[in-house]
Amino acid sequence: MTNIQARICLASSGGDQEYNPSVAAIPLTEIAMPQKTLADTLAAGETIYVTCGHPMCCKSTKLDIQVLIDRLGPCHGSMHWDLVVLFGCSDCKAARRDRRSVFFTVIPDYEGQQRERNRDWKPTFERG
Ligand SMILES: [Zn+2]
Repeated sequence: MTNIQARICLASSGGDQEYNPSVAAIPLTEIAMPQKTLADTLAAGETIYVTCGHPMCCKSTKLDIQVLIDRLGPCHGSMHWDLVVLFGCSDCKAARRDRRSVFFTVIPDYEGQQRERNRDWKPTFERG
């Protein structure tokens, strides 16, 4: 009884493996999140803050997108994984704290979006 069940399990799991397409065969770019470049970020008027991930530190500063473009090129990705490897924390290094990844905060251009949405709009002003 137990032997038969074990055989069935093995047979069905083997079948599943053959049936499922291999994920590794798909190029990474096709299953990755939508790509965004530094040029896109600059054009969208977004502001990116980089923050040290160490709880003792938490230093944060605004990134200069134009400087990044000058150094990395406009086609360099601006998503988390494109940028996270580039940054380390000098304060944590000096204090010999263990190195933690930085994280990013992206702030959309709210004022620009408001301007765009309300470009031709004026409130009415009437005395009732
Ligand atoms: Zn730090």
